[in-house]
Amino acid sequence: MAKLNGVKLQDCQDRPLPEMSGNVMTLPRTDKPLVPASSLDHERVLFPTPIAIGELDVRVGVLALQGDFPEHVQALKRLGAEASEVRLPRDLEGIQALIIPGGESTTIGKLAVSYGLIEPLKEFAAKHPVWGTCAGAIFLSKDARRAQPLLGLMDIDVQRNAFGRQVDSFEVDLDVPALAGPDDGRPPPFHAVFIRAPLIERVGPGVEVVGRLPDGRIVAARQGRWLATSFHPELTGDDRFHRYFLSLAAGPKRVRST
Ligand code: GLN
Repeated sequence: MAKLNGVKLQDCQDRPLPEMSGNVMTLPRTDKPLVPASSLDHERVLFPTPIAIGELDVRVGVLALQGDFPEHVQALKRLGAEASEVRLPRDLEGIQALIIPGGESTTIGKLAVSYGLIEPLKEFAAKHPVWGTCAGAIFLSKDARRAQPLLGLMDIDVQRNAFGRQVDSFEVDLDVPALAGPDDGRPPPFHAVFIRAPLIERVGPGVEVVGRLPDGRIVAARQGRWLATSFHPELTGDDRFHRYFLSLAAGPKRVRST
């Protein structure tokens, strides 16, 4: 069992881990989510957020340059949302929200430059919700302490690969009050999977901290309708973060209590 500042972390030895080839990370292709749905309390965990997904007319794009975009598409489809892959500027037409997946932020950034996506992505984000997971969160940040292409949208600074080799990949339960519906009280913890993850080292004044490690360090943040998570909700089978993001995309009018 790995420890991080005294906090026990479940290691990922029995999980399929990402493969590295050069600086490109490919996440395991598996039908099984990292946290089997059977280990979750379905009634409480999977359906607490009061949003009638089937009623949303939100089409969500997933940036599909590199990384684990298929897992996000699957999670969105599980929720009954429409999802499409974004590779070129024209793919941003007709979507109302965008997810930037985990993978390798340098590769995603370089490919985004090659495909002429940087300015179109910034223009899209000025009007729509965007969520970055892990490498996607790095790509959204203002500063990643290295020269690499960034969207620079969220007023956060991140430290890449912040957990070092010893705890490259780990899982830990997080308290995320934002996942509660209006009448839910305290939601069950969110089992978060970290893979060579960044830390959110600084948040600007307009940024709300959404999740912290048990030792207080920041791993999820929201600025208006932009969301950054250091971990990978798309790999767990617990779709509450996707629901939360969809509720940002839907706006208050379209979210109704079930
Ligand atoms: N370490 C990767 C990076 O810095 C992110 C890893 C991930 O997305 N799981 O881009």
